[in-house]
Amino acid sequence: MSEAAPSSVFRFAPTPNGALHLGHAYSALMNQRRAGETGGRLLLRIEDLDRSRCKRLHEDAIRFDLAWLGVGFDGAPRRQSEHTADYAARLSRLEQAGLVYPCFCSRAEVARAAVGRDPDGAPLYSGACRALTGAQRRARLARGDKAARRLDMGRALAAVAGPLAWIEYGEGTAAETRIADPAAWGDVVLGGRDLAASYHLAVTVDDALQGVTDVVRGRDLLAATSVHRLLQALMGLPAPRYRHHRLVLDPAGGKLAKSRGSPSLADLRAQGISAAEVVQALGFGRADAPAFEVALS
Ligand code: GLU
Repeated sequence: MSEAAPSSVFRFAPTPNGALHLGHAYSALMNQRRAGETGGRLLLRIEDLDRSRCKRLHEDAIRFDLAWLGVGFDGAPRRQSEHTADYAARLSRLEQAGLVYPCFCSRAEVARAAVGRDPDGAPLYSGACRALTGAQRRARLARGDKAARRLDMGRALAAVAGPLAWIEYGEGTAAETRIADPAAWGDVVLGGRDLAASYHLAVTVDDALQGVTDVVRGRDLLAATSVHRLLQALMGLPAPRYRHHRLVLDPAGGKLAKSRGSPSLADLRAQGISAAEVVQALGFGRADAPAFEVALS
Protein backbone atom coordinates (compact mmCIF):
# COMPACT_ATOMS: atom_id res chain seq x y z
CA MET A 1 0.00 0.00 0.00
CA SER A 2 1.32 3.45 -0.80
CA GLU A 3 2.23 5.68 2.12
CA ALA A 4 -0.26 8.28 0.92
CA ALA A 5 -3.28 6.00 0.58
CA PRO A 6 -6.41 8.18 0.76
CA SER A 7 -7.94 5.90 3.37
CA SER A 8 -5.21 6.61 5.95
CA VAL A 9 -6.47 6.77 9.52
CA PHE A 10 -4.36 8.45 12.21
CA ARG A 11 -5.02 8.82 15.92
CA PHE A 12 -3.84 10.93 18.82
CA ALA A 13 -4.25 8.99 22.06
CA PRO A 14 -3.60 11.02 25.21
CA THR A 15 -3.90 9.62 28.73
CA PRO A 16 -5.96 12.08 30.80
CA ASN A 17 -3.83 11.88 33.94
CA GLY A 18 -2.47 15.40 33.75
CA ALA A 19 -2.05 18.41 31.52
CA LEU A 20 -0.66 18.35 27.98
CA HIS A 21 2.84 19.72 27.52
CA LEU A 22 4.91 20.60 24.44
CA GLY A 23 5.69 16.93 23.75
CA HIS A 24 2.02 16.10 23.43
CA ALA A 25 1.52 19.17 21.25
CA TYR A 26 4.33 18.02 18.94
CA SER A 27 2.72 14.59 18.62
CA ALA A 28 -0.75 15.96 17.96
CA LEU A 29 0.59 18.41 15.36
CA MET A 30 2.64 15.67 13.68
CA ASN A 31 -0.48 13.50 13.43
CA GLN A 32 -2.42 16.44 12.02
CA ARG A 33 0.29 17.20 9.47
CA ARG A 34 0.52 13.57 8.32
CA ALA A 35 -3.26 13.22 8.09
CA GLY A 36 -3.42 16.45 6.09
CA GLU A 37 -0.63 15.41 3.73
CA THR A 38 -2.22 12.02 3.03
CA GLY A 39 -5.85 13.16 2.93
CA GLY A 40 -6.41 10.89 5.91
CA ARG A 41 -8.65 11.11 8.94
CA LEU A 42 -7.47 11.95 12.44
CA LEU A 43 -9.21 10.32 15.40
CA LEU A 44 -9.01 11.17 19.09
CA ARG A 45 -8.74 8.36 21.61
CA ILE A 46 -8.86 9.01 25.34
CA GLU A 47 -6.76 6.34 27.09
CA ASP A 48 -8.51 6.53 30.44
CA LEU A 49 -8.46 2.92 31.65
CA ASP A 50 -6.47 3.67 34.79
CA ARG A 51 -9.40 4.98 36.82
CA SER A 52 -7.20 5.87 39.79
CA ARG A 53 -5.18 8.38 37.77
CA CYS A 54 -7.42 9.46 34.89
CA LYS A 55 -9.88 12.25 35.53
CA ARG A 56 -12.62 13.78 33.41
CA LEU A 57 -11.32 17.26 34.25
CA HIS A 58 -7.98 16.34 32.64
CA GLU A 59 -9.81 15.08 29.53
CA ASP A 60 -11.74 18.36 29.32
CA ALA A 61 -8.51 20.35 29.67
CA ILE A 62 -6.78 18.21 27.02
CA ARG A 63 -9.62 18.76 24.58
CA PHE A 64 -9.53 22.49 25.28
CA ASP A 65 -5.75 22.57 24.66
CA LEU A 66 -6.07 20.64 21.38
CA ALA A 67 -8.78 23.01 20.13
CA TRP A 68 -6.60 25.98 21.20
CA LEU A 69 -3.69 24.52 19.23
CA GLY A 70 -5.96 24.16 16.20
CA VAL A 71 -5.89 20.37 16.07
CA GLY A 72 -9.31 19.06 15.05
CA PHE A 73 -10.54 15.48 14.95
CA ASP A 74 -12.92 13.43 12.84
CA GLY A 75 -15.91 12.10 14.76
CA ALA A 76 -16.41 11.70 18.48
CA PRO A 77 -13.50 10.54 20.66
CA ARG A 78 -13.26 6.91 21.71
CA ARG A 79 -13.03 6.74 25.49
CA GLN A 80 -11.39 3.45 26.49
CA SER A 81 -13.25 3.25 29.81
CA GLU A 82 -16.48 2.86 27.81
CA HIS A 83 -15.17 -0.15 25.89
CA THR A 84 -13.87 -2.52 28.54
CA ALA A 85 -15.96 -5.39 27.10
CA ASP A 86 -13.86 -5.24 23.90
CA TYR A 87 -10.66 -5.83 25.87
CA ALA A 88 -12.21 -8.50 28.11
CA ALA A 89 -13.38 -10.46 25.04
CA ARG A 90 -9.91 -10.37 23.49
CA LEU A 91 -8.24 -11.28 26.77
CA SER A 92 -10.50 -14.25 27.30
CA ARG A 93 -9.73 -15.56 23.81
CA LEU A 94 -6.02 -15.37 24.53
CA GLU A 95 -6.69 -17.09 27.85
CA GLN A 96 -8.64 -19.88 26.14
CA ALA A 97 -5.72 -20.36 23.77
CA GLY A 98 -3.52 -21.02 26.84
CA LEU A 99 -1.41 -17.90 26.28
CA VAL A 100 -2.35 -16.04 29.45
CA TYR A 101 -2.00 -16.92 33.13
CA PRO A 102 -3.07 -15.28 36.38
CA CYS A 103 -0.26 -13.65 38.35
CA PHE A 104 -0.80 -13.11 42.06
CA CYS A 105 2.50 -11.35 42.75
CA SER A 106 2.42 -7.88 44.25
CA ARG A 107 4.43 -5.06 42.72
CA ALA A 108 6.99 -5.48 45.53
CA GLU A 109 7.28 -9.24 44.90
CA VAL A 110 7.80 -8.66 41.19
CA ALA A 111 10.55 -6.14 41.97
CA ARG A 112 12.26 -8.40 44.55
CA ALA A 113 12.44 -11.39 42.21
CA ALA A 114 13.15 -9.39 39.03
CA VAL A 115 15.35 -11.10 36.46
CA GLY A 116 16.55 -7.85 34.90
CA ARG A 117 14.90 -4.80 33.43
CA ASP A 118 12.43 -4.42 30.57
CA PRO A 119 13.09 -1.89 27.76
CA ASP A 120 11.32 0.78 29.84
CA GLY A 121 13.62 0.08 32.78
CA ALA A 122 10.91 -1.59 34.90
CA PRO A 123 11.63 -4.86 36.78
CA LEU A 124 11.42 -7.86 34.44
CA TYR A 125 9.03 -10.45 35.83
CA SER A 126 10.55 -13.77 36.91
CA GLY A 127 7.55 -15.77 35.71
CA ALA A 128 6.97 -17.22 39.21
CA CYS A 129 3.19 -17.63 38.79
CA ARG A 130 3.66 -19.37 35.43
CA ALA A 131 4.74 -22.42 37.45
CA LEU A 132 1.49 -22.67 39.44
CA THR A 133 -0.63 -25.70 38.61
CA GLY A 134 -4.17 -25.36 37.31
CA ALA A 135 -5.49 -26.51 40.69
CA GLN A 136 -3.38 -23.94 42.58
CA ARG A 137 -4.60 -21.17 40.29
CA ARG A 138 -8.22 -22.18 40.66
CA ALA A 139 -7.92 -22.39 44.44
CA ARG A 140 -6.35 -18.93 44.73
CA LEU A 141 -8.90 -17.36 42.38
CA ALA A 142 -11.74 -19.13 44.24
CA ARG A 143 -10.60 -17.67 47.56
CA GLY A 144 -10.68 -14.21 46.04
CA ASP A 145 -6.96 -13.53 45.58
CA LYS A 146 -6.52 -10.70 43.12
CA ALA A 147 -4.62 -11.55 39.96
CA ALA A 148 -3.18 -9.69 37.02
CA ARG A 149 -3.27 -11.49 33.66
CA ARG A 150 0.13 -12.03 32.07
CA LEU A 151 1.05 -13.16 28.58
CA ASP A 152 3.12 -16.36 28.57
CA MET A 153 5.82 -14.94 26.32
CA GLY A 154 7.40 -18.31 25.50
CA ARG A 155 4.12 -19.81 24.36
CA ALA A 156 3.10 -16.65 22.56
CA LEU A 157 6.33 -16.59 20.54
CA ALA A 158 5.86 -20.26 19.69
CA ALA A 159 2.29 -19.55 18.53
CA VAL A 160 3.29 -16.96 15.91
CA ALA A 161 4.93 -18.09 12.72
CA GLY A 162 8.40 -16.65 12.08
CA PRO A 163 9.95 -13.34 13.11
CA LEU A 164 7.77 -10.26 13.51
CA ALA A 165 8.56 -6.90 11.97
CA TRP A 166 6.94 -3.53 11.33
CA ILE A 167 7.22 -0.67 8.88
CA GLU A 168 8.83 2.35 10.55
CA TYR A 169 9.09 5.87 9.09
CA GLY A 170 10.65 7.70 12.03
CA GLU A 171 10.78 11.42 11.15
CA GLY A 172 11.49 10.79 7.48
CA THR A 173 9.70 9.56 4.38
CA ALA A 174 11.63 6.33 3.78
CA ALA A 175 10.14 3.12 5.12
CA GLU A 176 12.42 0.96 7.21
CA THR A 177 11.72 -2.57 8.40
CA ARG A 178 12.14 -3.00 12.13
CA ILE A 179 12.43 -6.44 13.65
CA ALA A 180 10.28 -6.87 16.74
CA ASP A 181 11.86 -8.18 19.95
CA PRO A 182 8.91 -8.87 22.24
CA ALA A 183 10.92 -11.34 24.36
CA ALA A 184 12.78 -8.38 25.91
CA TRP A 185 9.55 -7.53 27.75
CA GLY A 186 9.07 -10.94 29.36
CA ASP A 187 5.59 -12.02 30.45
CA VAL A 188 3.89 -8.63 30.03
CA VAL A 189 0.71 -7.74 31.89
CA LEU A 190 -2.38 -7.68 29.66
CA GLY A 191 -4.98 -7.12 32.36
CA GLY A 192 -4.32 -5.65 35.78
CA ARG A 193 -5.68 -6.51 39.19
CA ASP A 194 -7.93 -3.45 38.97
CA LEU A 195 -7.37 -2.59 35.33
CA ALA A 196 -9.60 -3.88 32.50
CA ALA A 197 -6.64 -3.99 30.13
CA SER A 198 -3.04 -2.90 30.13
CA TYR A 199 -1.84 -0.22 27.75
CA HIS A 200 -0.36 -2.89 25.44
CA LEU A 201 -3.62 -4.80 25.05
CA ALA A 202 -5.94 -1.78 24.84
CA VAL A 203 -3.81 0.10 22.31
CA THR A 204 -3.55 -2.95 20.05
CA VAL A 205 -7.27 -3.69 20.17
CA ASP A 206 -8.25 -0.05 19.65
CA ASP A 207 -5.88 0.61 16.77
CA ALA A 208 -7.55 -2.33 15.00
CA LEU A 209 -11.14 -1.47 15.99
CA GLN A 210 -10.69 2.15 14.92
CA GLY A 211 -9.15 1.07 11.60
CA VAL A 212 -5.92 2.94 12.33
CA THR A 213 -3.48 2.62 9.42
CA ASP A 214 -0.78 4.95 10.72
CA VAL A 215 0.42 5.21 14.31
CA VAL A 216 2.32 8.46 14.91
CA ARG A 217 3.71 8.73 18.45
CA GLY A 218 6.86 9.50 20.40
CA ARG A 219 10.10 7.53 20.30
CA ASP A 220 9.57 6.60 23.92
CA LEU A 221 7.03 4.03 22.64
CA LEU A 222 9.27 2.53 19.95
CA ALA A 223 10.28 -0.50 22.03
CA ALA A 224 6.68 -1.19 23.09
CA THR A 225 5.79 -1.66 19.42
CA SER A 226 7.44 -5.10 19.64
CA VAL A 227 4.75 -6.18 22.09
CA HIS A 228 2.02 -4.60 19.97
CA ARG A 229 3.19 -6.50 16.88
CA LEU A 230 3.14 -9.76 18.82
CA LEU A 231 -0.37 -9.11 20.12
CA GLN A 232 -1.57 -8.17 16.63
CA ALA A 233 -0.19 -11.45 15.30
CA LEU A 234 -1.76 -13.48 18.12
CA MET A 235 -5.16 -11.83 17.68
CA GLY A 236 -5.10 -11.83 13.87
CA LEU A 237 -5.21 -8.03 13.70
CA PRO A 238 -3.66 -5.90 10.94
CA ALA A 239 -0.39 -4.06 11.58
CA PRO A 240 -0.48 -0.28 11.05
CA ARG A 241 2.53 1.64 9.76
CA TYR A 242 4.50 3.36 12.51
CA ARG A 243 6.17 6.74 12.81
CA HIS A 244 7.97 7.19 16.12
CA HIS A 245 8.92 10.83 16.20
CA ARG A 246 11.48 12.81 18.19
CA LEU A 247 10.71 13.93 21.71
CA VAL A 248 10.64 17.48 22.98
CA LEU A 249 13.35 17.96 25.59
CA ASP A 250 13.47 20.30 28.55
CA PRO A 251 16.21 22.99 28.52
CA ALA A 252 18.59 20.60 30.38
CA GLY A 253 18.16 17.96 27.67
CA GLY A 254 15.92 15.71 29.80
CA LYS A 255 12.46 14.34 29.22
CA LEU A 256 9.58 16.74 29.81
CA ALA A 257 7.82 15.94 33.05
CA LYS A 258 5.60 17.75 35.46
CA SER A 259 7.88 16.60 38.30
CA ARG A 260 10.78 18.42 36.65
CA GLY A 261 8.80 21.62 36.37
CA SER A 262 8.14 21.40 32.61
CA PRO A 263 5.45 23.92 31.71
CA SER A 264 2.11 22.63 30.47
CA LEU A 265 0.39 24.21 27.48
CA ALA A 266 -1.93 25.90 29.99
CA ASP A 267 1.13 27.37 31.79
CA LEU A 268 2.47 28.72 28.48
CA ARG A 269 -0.92 30.19 27.66
CA ALA A 270 -1.02 31.85 31.09
CA GLN A 271 2.40 33.39 30.32
CA GLY A 272 0.83 35.06 27.30
CA ILE A 273 2.28 32.72 24.68
CA SER A 274 -0.11 32.23 21.75
CA ALA A 275 -1.05 28.95 20.09
CA ALA A 276 0.56 30.22 16.86
CA GLU A 277 3.84 30.74 18.76
CA VAL A 278 3.71 27.21 20.18
CA VAL A 279 2.97 25.75 16.74
CA GLN A 280 5.81 27.75 15.22
CA ALA A 281 8.31 26.87 17.97
CA LEU A 282 7.56 23.18 17.41
CA GLY A 283 8.32 23.54 13.69
CA PHE A 284 4.78 23.37 12.33
CA GLY A 285 4.21 27.03 11.63
CA ARG A 286 5.85 29.85 9.72
CA ALA A 287 9.56 29.60 8.94
CA ASP A 288 10.56 32.88 10.61
CA ALA A 289 12.30 33.08 14.00
CA PRO A 290 10.24 31.36 16.71
CA ALA A 291 9.13 33.22 19.83
CA PHE A 292 10.94 30.61 21.96
CA GLU A 293 13.35 27.73 21.43
CA VAL A 294 12.39 24.06 21.67
CA ALA A 295 14.96 21.22 21.72
CA LEU A 296 14.09 17.88 20.12
CA SER A 297 15.83 14.56 20.75
N1 GLU B 1 -1.69 7.11 25.84
C1 GLU B 1 -0.29 7.09 25.51
C2 GLU B 1 0.39 8.31 26.09
O1 GLU B 1 -0.27 9.30 26.40
C3 GLU B 1 -0.01 7.09 24.02
C4 GLU B 1 -0.29 5.79 23.42
C5 GLU B 1 0.06 5.64 21.96
O2 GLU B 1 0.13 6.65 21.23
O3 GLU B 1 0.20 4.51 21.55
O4 GLU B 1 1.58 8.28 26.25
